[in-house]
Order: sequence, then C-alpha cells, then structure tokens
Amino acid sequence: MKASDTSALFIGPKGEQGEVFSSLWDHLLAVTLQRRAQRFADDPEWQPLSTKAHPSDYAVVQSALEELLDLLREEIPTFSPRYLGHMVSDVSIPALLGHMAMLFENANLASREAALVGSALETEAINLLANMVGLDPKPARGHFTSGGTLANFEAVWRARYRLDHWLALGVWLKVNGYSDSPLFEWAHCGWSVYHEHMNRHELSEQDLLSYSSVVMGPLAMSRFVLENFKEEWPEPVMLVPGNKHYSWPKAANIFGLGREAVWSCDLDDKGRLDPAGLRAQIERAEEAGRPIMMVVSVAGTTELGMIDPVDQVADLLDGLCEHRGLHIWHHVDAAYGGYFCSVLQGDSCALSATSKAALRAFPRASSLTLDPHKLGFVPYACGAFLVPDANAYLVSNIQAPYLEAIADAKFPSWSTTLEGSRAATGPSAVWLSAKIMPLNAEGHGGFLNRSLLITRTLHEAVARVSPEIRMLDLSDTNVICFAIASEGDTVSEANRKTDRVIAHFRDSPELSATRTGLSVENYGGLVANTVAQWRGSVDSDQLTVVRMVVMNPYLDDEAIAQNIQALLEDSLRPALG
Ligand SMILES: *Cc1c(COP(=O)(O)O)cnc(C)c1O
Repeated sequence: MKASDTSALFIGPKGEQGEVFSSLWDHLLAVTLQRRAQRFADDPEWQPLSTKAHPSDYAVVQSALEELLDLLREEIPTFSPRYLGHMVSDVSIPALLGHMAMLFENANLASREAALVGSALETEAINLLANMVGLDPKPARGHFTSGGTLANFEAVWRARYRLDHWLALGVWLKVNGYSDSPLFEWAHCGWSVYHEHMNRHELSEQDLLSYSSVVMGPLAMSRFVLENFKEEWPEPVMLVPGNKHYSWPKAANIFGLGREAVWSCDLDDKGRLDPAGLRAQIERAEEAGRPIMMVVSVAGTTELGMIDPVDQVADLLDGLCEHRGLHIWHHVDAAYGGYFCSVLQGDSCALSATSKAALRAFPRASSLTLDPHKLGFVPYACGAFLVPDANAYLVSNIQAPYLEAIADAKFPSWSTTLEGSRAATGPSAVWLSAKIMPLNAEGHGGFLNRSLLITRTLHEAVARVSPEIRMLDLSDTNVICFAIASEGDTVSEANRKTDRVIAHFRDSPELSATRTGLSVENYGGLVANTVAQWRGSVDSDQLTVVRMVVMNPYLDDEAIAQNIQALLEDSLRPALG
C-alpha cells in the first residue's frame, strides 16, 4: 500500500478492507496478550475467583455482549457514504489501531507517572500538529483535550491569566500614583512592559496578589477599584464573530463573564468575520474601558464551513500592537478547518486564495484549537490546544495559585490542563495515522483536497435537481447548504418548504442531512443575498437551510459518489412536491 493511497486506509462501508483490518487487529491483540504474559513472567498466575468471569461461563458475557451488539444495530451509520449529516464520519484504520493499542495500556496523561510513553507520544503528536499548521514546534506548546470545546476553554483560561497579570500591575501602579493611563491600556500592555515595570518597582508576583481579580474575585476587585480611584471595574469582554460555535457562550459562562460580555462581530455577506466589524468592536471596547480578553476567529465554521480572514485579523491586531502598544489575544478556533493546513503545499490545492492566506496566518495567532476527531478521522474524544509561544501557555498553577511559572514544563500535566485525567488514545491515534497518512499534501492533505472537489461536484448536482433549490455560495471547505423557495417566497414560506425537505430526510433511512437556521442578526448580508436569488422578502428572524457535511472518506470512489448523487436527486425530487 502506498502512503498516498489513503482510500485503502478505511475499513469500508461494507468492510471491504475487513481482511486487512482483521489481520492487523488480530496482531495487535496477540501482541498485547503476549506482552502481558511475558511481563514479570515468573509471577504466579491469577485464578479468577468469580465463576462468572471464568471461561466456562463465557455464555453470560456472550449474551450480554449480544444484547449490546443488538442495541448498536440501531446506531446512526456514520460509516456509510449515505451519512452527510454532522461533522462526523468513519475513522481511519491507522487511527483506530493507534487508539486501540493505547486503550489496552489505559495510560493517563494526567501525569507522567501514569503515562510514560503516552506523554512522550503526546509531545510528538503535538509537534506533528504544530508542524501541520505552520508553527515552529520548538517554542510551540500544546496538549490534547477531549475536544474542541475544551480546547477553546483552555485558550480562555490562558488569556485570562495573561490579562489578569497585566491588569493587576495597572491597578497597583494607579493605586500607588505611578500611572494615570486608563486600565484598558494596562490590560493590553504586553509582557515586556509588564516586566519592565515589575523590575523598576521591584515588584514580585506575590505583591500583585491583592490586585488580581482571579485571586480576589471580580466583586472584591470591583469594590477596591471603585474606592481607590473612583473608576468602575472594567469587566473584560470577548469579541467573537457571529458565526461562532456554541462553545464560546459556554466559555463565558464558565469563566464568570456575563452573557453581555460576549460581543458579537459582524460577518460579511459570505458568513465570514468582517474585519471592519471587529475593528468597530475593539473601538467600542476601548471607549467603554472594557479590556478585551480575547478576539476569536473561526477557521471552518460549524454552520457553513467558512474560513474567517485570520490573516486580516492578525494584520489588524498587529497594527494595534505596533502603533498603540496594545497586545490583544487572538484565538483561532480551527476545530473543524485546521486540518486543511495539510492541503496547503500541494500543487493542486483546491482552496481559494483567501482561504489559503487565512490558513497560512495561523502562526500569527496567540492560540489555536484543532479537532483530530473531525477531519483527522481519529476516534473520539480527541481535540488539541496549541500555542506558538510557550509564554502563552502559562496558567495559574493550582498548587501554588498565581506563583509558579510553568513555561519550562516539558510535559503538560493535571496542573496545567483543565482536564485532570486525559486518555492517551488521541495522541497515539494521531501519531500512528500521521506515520501512514503524513499531515501534508501527499498524505492527509491529498485526501482532504479531494473532499473539496467532491463537495463542488455534489453542490452542482444538488443545484441541478430543481430550480427551487437555492444553493448558498460554495463553502470554503466541504459543507453544502441550500434552501427551498419559489420565486417571490417570503423567508417564512421558504422555511416551511425547507423544513418539509428536512423532515423527509429525517423520516427516510436513505440519506442523512442536518438542518440549521441562519439568523438575520448574525447572517444579515448572507440571508439578504440568498433571498435575492428568488426575489423574496425577509419576514423572519432566520433562514432555514439544509446542511450537508461532505467529509465521508468513501465519496472518493467514483461509483459511490454517483450512487449518492442519484440517491440525493431521488430523495429531493419527491420532497420538493
Ligand atoms: C466542533 C467545533 C467545536 C467544538 O468541538 P467539540 O469537539 O465538539 O467539543 C468548536 N468550534 C468549532 C468551530 C467546531 O466546528
């Protein structure tokens, strides 16, 4: 098997690669059992006490297993090319084997004491991911999480740590009469200004403890600031684009920000973050004296698969840094789209020029989220959090709150990650799949590039079924969305028709697709443009669309793709009525 022959690296919707998989699986199991037998070979053998677990009574285990397998018969067949629903599909054979091999070891990344090899593999796998997204693995840091949501939380945790240090210094300087600059400026002063003042006033981190809102809590800080210099305590805000994943409001909630503190940035009429909208929110925050905890851009939006102009966001923030000395945290939520970085170096890269520029700007971000369990074709639960610079990895150490610098820590552990126990299965799966499907244009990238081309073909095929199918613009990645509408329909009329088609998909076992609502509040321009296709009018606060994620590895096959295309056409026609 050639490394580039990625299609052979999946079990197949009918188990077409079953034999290969079976022999690899048998081998894995045999080695696992052999290792146990050989480890401490002279120790006495264990005799199970309970007869239930005795081989003679395997019937009990067998029947319970049958019951479970019977239940699983009804599970959603995400391995089938007919599944075009959410961001999930079959996993690759190497990822599955990597996962399973580690599963038997049951290693726990909470500490190197529970995962010696697992921790080393995690470092290697993080380096592979860092390299894929263009980071220099040396200064980069990161760790695996249970998913994109947790990786996003990791970013907020660290951005808050940084902001809190800079703000605490600002409060100290103001209370002691050394500064009359607004706290907004201190909140974004940067580490070098921070250290300069710490040195000048011979301050230690300990001295700032009673000026830290993370230590004192925002209420006590608020009273303190009001009493000492008659200023309102500036509750930080998060600036997130209107296309954000729902993990961001969750993050605000968990980290003690009011819902009000999540400020939405306008989107352009393709559904991507509009840098002008971001600039306006930054100015608004400064006017209101509200520190900016972080700016988020999304690479591969959950709804439409669009890629925000990460490069333009970076330009904007670099400009503020250069001209105003304002250091603002930029997190790129690339949970879905991050793996498209593996496509970049290829000659036949099917990404648009704007998407390429956005992906190439990843190293300019403060932190990144990736989800190997999406386009890495790795089993759940496997997300990753990365920073290009170890300084951005700092968090308040739980043992010694606020004091211990952990930038030098070589291995992430329970004290530097939000999660305590963490499975080593993800790193192992990423590591093994990258060996066989390298994370570049020849390997994984070639495969993802084909998914972009297949998306275009399907997009056109769906559009041809009926003039009443109103396609949204082609996605930056591999998501297809469309609404159903007749000439002149209002949005509510169109939504009813689209919902009928969605109900048809839901009720028929033929194909899976999902529904999403594009709110006029967030997607105003996009909704207006789409509705203009049928000269309709907007009388509802959201436009309903059918959404299909085209990430199934088997659509690579011509015959399968044609079959799906035909099935799509067949199921859409009657549903259109
Ligand atoms: C999927 C996704 C997440 C959340 O990831 P989970 O792995 O489901 O926790 C966050 N952001 C974006 C853009 C996503 O697509």
